[in-house]
Amino acid sequence: MRAAVLYEAHTPMRIEDVSLDGPHDDEVLVQVKATGACHSDYHVIDGSWNGASYPMPMILGHEAAGVVEKVGANVTSVKPGDPVILSFAPNCGRCRMCTIGQPQLCSGMRSPAGTFPDGTRRHRKGDLELNAFGRGMSSFAEYSVVHQSAAIKINPEMPMNGAALIGCAVMTGVGAVLNTARVELGSTVAVFATGGVGLSVVQGAVLANASKIIAIDLLDNKLDYARGFGATHAVNSKNQDPLQAIRDITDGEGVDYAFDAIGDSRVSRACYDAVRRGGTAVIVGMAPTGSEISIPGTIAGEEKIVKGCFYGSSRPAVDFPRLVDFYLRGVLQLDRMITRTYPLAEINAAFDALGRGDNARGVLTPTN
Ligand SMILES: [Zn+2]
Ligand SMILES: [Zn+2]
Repeated sequence: MRAAVLYEAHTPMRIEDVSLDGPHDDEVLVQVKATGACHSDYHVIDGSWNGASYPMPMILGHEAAGVVEKVGANVTSVKPGDPVILSFAPNCGRCRMCTIGQPQLCSGMRSPAGTFPDGTRRHRKGDLELNAFGRGMSSFAEYSVVHQSAAIKINPEMPMNGAALIGCAVMTGVGAVLNTARVELGSTVAVFATGGVGLSVVQGAVLANASKIIAIDLLDNKLDYARGFGATHAVNSKNQDPLQAIRDITDGEGVDYAFDAIGDSRVSRACYDAVRRGGTAVIVGMAPTGSEISIPGTIAGEEKIVKGCFYGSSRPAVDFPRLVDFYLRGVLQLDRMITRTYPLAEINAAFDALGRGDNARGVLTPTN
């Protein structure tokens, strides 16, 4: 199959013919129909995520939807021909975290960086073994092999491009609001950075019936996107102090909830400062390797809450079909999030556009 291989950070990916072994007994082989260009891939490309956790060469891609091609002997949840959204967080279904309803934090799927859940590598270019991103999805390719817990069957009416976005940005952003923060009706919300995840936080806040939704970004085109998805206020932090703006909009108090959708320690701190006493700062963006966030020691008197959010605290088997239903009912906007689609061969152009902030989301269509 054809796949985009990253040999080294700061270099373009190369489209190569590679072999893919699988599916094994607990796995599913999926033809990739759509896969989004996400900041998490970009963090590896630009070297901000680095070291032993990201061995090269690697096939990136972790936000995808496709059609099941073949299933392993133990797989009963899907069959060939089923449309699926892929999850980048496979789960064992048996560990304590899975059992108490937090499968995104599963502790039963620990395998070395670059390998599949069973500890093997499956992609080869000639004699060269290639590493997988996460625990094996590597969707910047015509086919992907995933653990059966990571292939979630969806309604066949769901278009593939929108379905792909549910696999990362939309699940993460909407889930941060509905699952992680559990934003109550009428709350005030601020979201820092309005890329794919931030726009999904805005949409989550709309679904939660927040009263004020304040979007903060450095780029006016992204703030326009945010308004289009339901932000009630837009603040360009290049021209305006966002904390002062948030106080002005909330009668001097600060918001009930603030979301860091980029994963930058200064932005995380700004979220802490932006929430009212007793408010909640949710760190959704994944920060660079080794970074730390400083929080004032006066947190006790402020009763502020700081929460991490991984993958929108998602239970993929429940939440993916729910988001598909929201889309099909017309209350979740996905088509408008996709500014452009690209063939796999133009993957580097898609990431150049992401680096410049051109697109709400760019989506690759490896087999269309
Ligand atoms: Zn992502
Ligand atoms: Zn588990």
